[in-house]
Amino acid sequence: MQTTRQQIIQSIDGRAVRRFEPVRGDNGNRLNVSEYYGCNTFSLAVMKQKLPKDVYQKYISVVQSGQVGKKLDSDTAEAIAKVIKEWSIENGVTHFCHWFQPQTGLTAEKHDSFITVDENGVAIEKFSGSQLIQSEPDASSFPSGGMRTTFEARGYTAWDPSSPVFIMENANGKTLCIPSVFISYHGDALDEKAPLLRSMEVLNTKAVELLHVIGEKAVKRVVPTVGPEQEYFLIDRAFYNLRTDLVMTGRTLLGGQPPRGQQLEDHYFGSISSRVLAFMQEVELELYKLGVPAKTRHNEVAPSQYEMAPIFEEANVAADHNQLVMEVMRRVAARHNYAVLLHEKPFAGVNGSGKHNNWSMATVGDDEQSPNLLDPGKTPHQNLRFLIVLSTVMKAVHRHAGLIRATIATPGNDHRLGANEAPPAIISVFLGEQLSEICNRIESGTNLEQSGEAAVISLGVSKIPQISKDNTDRNRTSPFAFTGNKFEFRAVGSSSPISFPITVLNTAVAQAMGETTDLLKKKLKAGRPIDAAILEVVRETLLETKPVRFEGNNYSDDWVREAERRGLPNLKRAPEAMEQLLSPSSKTLFSETGVLREQELHSRYHVMMERHVKKLTIEAETLATMVDTMIVPAALKEQKALGEAIRALTEVTRNADVSEQTTRLGVVSQGINDLLSKRKDLTAMVARVQNLTEEAAKAHMLSGEVATLMSQIRSISDRLEDLVSDEFWPLPKYREMLFIS
Ligand code: ADP
Ligand code: MG
Repeated sequence: MQTTRQQIIQSIDGRAVRRFEPVRGDNGNRLNVSEYYGCNTFSLAVMKQKLPKDVYQKYISVVQSGQVGKKLDSDTAEAIAKVIKEWSIENGVTHFCHWFQPQTGLTAEKHDSFITVDENGVAIEKFSGSQLIQSEPDASSFPSGGMRTTFEARGYTAWDPSSPVFIMENANGKTLCIPSVFISYHGDALDEKAPLLRSMEVLNTKAVELLHVIGEKAVKRVVPTVGPEQEYFLIDRAFYNLRTDLVMTGRTLLGGQPPRGQQLEDHYFGSISSRVLAFMQEVELELYKLGVPAKTRHNEVAPSQYEMAPIFEEANVAADHNQLVMEVMRRVAARHNYAVLLHEKPFAGVNGSGKHNNWSMATVGDDEQSPNLLDPGKTPHQNLRFLIVLSTVMKAVHRHAGLIRATIATPGNDHRLGANEAPPAIISVFLGEQLSEICNRIESGTNLEQSGEAAVISLGVSKIPQISKDNTDRNRTSPFAFTGNKFEFRAVGSSSPISFPITVLNTAVAQAMGETTDLLKKKLKAGRPIDAAILEVVRETLLETKPVRFEGNNYSDDWVREAERRGLPNLKRAPEAMEQLLSPSSKTLFSETGVLREQELHSRYHVMMERHVKKLTIEAETLATMVDTMIVPAALKEQKALGEAIRALTEVTRNADVSEQTTRLGVVSQGINDLLSKRKDLTAMVARVQNLTEEAAKAHMLSGEVATLMSQIRSISDRLEDLVSDEFWPLPKYREMLFIS
């Protein structure tokens, strides 16, 4: 008789590649992507076409003001709501919702129908300006880190007009989603979006000031740009459903290593299987309709691991779009009988998944030269702009390395950071050979007495060669690498929203820009020519931030020691890192820039700690259940079978040699005993954790002692997996999940 597991393996063989309907035009012809791209978004183009001119202008001016919370007046909102309603109904939409990002890592939505019924019982579709702008969900069940008690549970969501309204399609209907911030009754941010918007605002202000001081007076607005590369695993859904650990925690808590993992290096960029490709294509189709610019797709290093990368966008939109990417992937995966695993480390022994955040800043509108502030440029002046911006970013990363580490602190990422496959927990900056060379020259520069272009030329920085990617991208081990015309923040976890890491980066850079501007102004006041002043500030900043620059192998033990010598923080585990949120320098950063008020910062800290504790407690309890109900029973069957076989044999042949078999029986029963005993310890330890009063103490214990005990349990179970008959083993094995699809 076959076990469920074995039946599943057979059924996977018969899975057909899913065919889905392409997008068709009115005449039934298949449309090109460019013809349907963004058809489910109420985009600028649609707005321009449908809105009265003055309303459109008002809308644009609010969006471009870069001011968070600057609201549309009610007439404008009413006019926009009217058009959105018409557009929605034309498109078959029945419901609308404010779509927001509470600090759960996911998005939230509460749907309302457009329908209202008048006094005669007649139904009509209605959607008002105030419904567009604001909504009041019952906020009591969202994390608030103690900022809100249940009796004053009011929070509200407010439309973020800088991110397009979109339609989510479902098999049986469509919903209008209004990207929104989520704020407490007293105006405290309860979500991921509000702080991100504030950070963009302060970055805009500080960057424009800096650019004006260095002579770029025409610049009106600067925005951070982000292109988040998303890594993920795909496994057959039938396997997933049988893995209690994947369903409950997103990662496998148990599972013996297969003889083959990623050592053959044959998966990276390998040819994509038809079934997987069909999934990717359907994801892309959905994303294109939503105006998400999916660009690249490929196989990643580990078996069954993949990546998609979009074209970069303004940070706020990129953050929303990344949430949509994850959501669409989850949904489409189900249609293809797949489960998408976004966890940072679903499988031990092969690579985990990250989300490389490519980040830069760009001027918007009105200029002839490259808008990208991290583009080295072609003229001496552009080179100087680049150098001052680059050094300012390094100042930010150097000063706030601990805080930046905190923004990526999750239980999942703890399995990745520091393992020799992902950036380490030490935050350093990689510049690449050419740029390092230039920085070294500037640092040791003695000709800074010369003025203007002479200094620039004598330092050899008048012509910074266009830095090619091949030159900069070689160091895959750096958590924060310069890659030609942007930084790549690689340490972000695959399941995390990108908002908070980007918020902190923007804010830290804004603060550093403010200081850079002040330094420049002082030098100008003292009569230094502008180019010389810029170079001097660049030089001072490079010297000050030298410890954060590292070009070597970030995985090496030498680096760990070297970083310690340089005074760089090495925050190995998430709870330790999270404490950086409340460090004096973090507090100053947030209060000075206004990005997070004191109570908001504390609340964020508490939410992060609390979530950490909850997630790890769930992991521990899941492991206990699996041991009790799956592993021990399977091992007992094996023990019984062995025992019976030995007895049967010795009954028939009194002198039969059963020494090896008896040894094996001994190993299996010892394994069962060890497992039961450690499993008892686990329950006791979790109880002790629960008795602690401080959330931080719980988090530390869970990440420390409990995690260690869990990995001991795992290794006993994994050894048993190798001994127990395949037909008794209830859980899909690594070799099956990773290689059969
Ligand atoms: P690489 O090969 O180094 O990964 P790509 O050009 O393929 O570089 O880009 C990777 C990601 O970086 C993409 O999502 C891309 O859109 C994004 N990216 C490129 N330029 C910028 C920029 N100026 N700001 C933010 N992201 C960018
Ligand atoms: Mg990658």
